[in-house]
Amino acid sequence: MSSVIIERVRIFDGESLVGPGSVEFADGVITRVVRAPSASVSASGRASASASASAEVIDGAGLTLLPGLIDAHTHVFDAESNLRQALAFGVTTELDMFMGPPEATRALCALARERADLADLRSAGLLASAPGGHPGVTMPLLPTVAGPGQADAFVAARQAEGAHFIKIMVDDGANHRRSLPALDRATVTALADAARRRGLLTVAHVSAVWSARLALDSGVDLLTHLPLEAALDEDFVRRAALQRRVVIPTLAILEVSAPENDPADCAARSLVHDPRIADHLPDPVLAVIAEGGEGLCVEHPLPGHRFHHALSSVARLHRAGVPVLAGTDANHRPGRACPIVHGATLHAELALLVRAGLTPAQALTAATSAPAAHFGLSDRGVIAPGRRADLVLVEGDPTQDITATRSITAIWRGGVRVDRTAHHDRTAAHTTAGPGGTPTKRRTP
Ligand SMILES: [Zn+2]
Repeated sequence: MSSVIIERVRIFDGESLVGPGSVEFADGVITRVVRAPSASVSASGRASASASASAEVIDGAGLTLLPGLIDAHTHVFDAESNLRQALAFGVTTELDMFMGPPEATRALCALARERADLADLRSAGLLASAPGGHPGVTMPLLPTVAGPGQADAFVAARQAEGAHFIKIMVDDGANHRRSLPALDRATVTALADAARRRGLLTVAHVSAVWSARLALDSGVDLLTHLPLEAALDEDFVRRAALQRRVVIPTLAILEVSAPENDPADCAARSLVHDPRIADHLPDPVLAVIAEGGEGLCVEHPLPGHRFHHALSSVARLHRAGVPVLAGTDANHRPGRACPIVHGATLHAELALLVRAGLTPAQALTAATSAPAAHFGLSDRGVIAPGRRADLVLVEGDPTQDITATRSITAIWRGGVRVDRTAHHDRTAAHTTAGPGGTPTKRRTP
């Protein structure tokens, strides 16, 4: 069978830059990584430097090869187009944090497993929230959890539906200027215990300092979002590190929810000015990134809410050794004007993680090997023999300049090269024929 060899390429293996060297893959799996002219590791474990016959050889001089990117917090809304767009920006796996109905979620996960033109997908399915709470108050069909006694049945039902992990809402609606019932500590603890017994991870949506504390005290595995009203204090981050918690900050959506300065300068919104991103998105999506206001964490910035509190929390968590994962909370879909979009926004999230104090290499780890390790995706996230050939080839060196992840020259999903030109053509056609909407920023030539 034919294989592909990328030669003379810088290799970011999921943790650090190795090489220049070469990477070979065949049948969707990485078969050999040569990290230096003389040393090599093959799938069989034997050292070898010889290239297979009948291989397609790509010259990677000046380029960097990354594991396919993983967005650890999205909402796909049963929209195949979101997974197609994610893949066109190098996001080969999305972790969806709330989607329904369960049959549709299962069907889309099955589709995404097979289809080479979509990002692969794992999903929490239906999330756990309090009766009358956020967001169930507007979704009457959403099953809720009235107390600890209902926790195990809730988790069992999600597991039977095929959920890959359990998402738990710890939110009283205050960020949306409401006062709603929220899950209490006993119930969240019971949910976390039930999930652990059943071999499922738990991810808590935390909206404020009180909810972050409640999630930590309840033994939830991962926390997502960060408070905007204050930074997490040193006692919190020390305990989080000791208890081996993991955090998915979703900085891009937090910044747009509480802009520090000119809203147009937000990392996510300013993507419309970067031709490396904007040239691959249809005008209606660019308009939404520039001006859309739906689906944010906070409606109308609340007094005292500051994005720099979230940046400080990330810095403290990271310094304390708490793993930080890249997640966007992308929840745009046709008809929902959320400026946090699939694929593209992950590149803004990476830049924000660097602004918070991660090195570019650590930010890349947060979007590759770290989410793979913490979500049990042991077949991906790392460039090594035996791993899936989910790969992104970019110009320049993103361990020096994180925005180099936007200069994509090729993407492979499970060893199949993604036809970015076809995506681009579809984008152009959509732009010409698409619905009106707000005029977008002009594209840089
Ligand atoms: Zn979310």
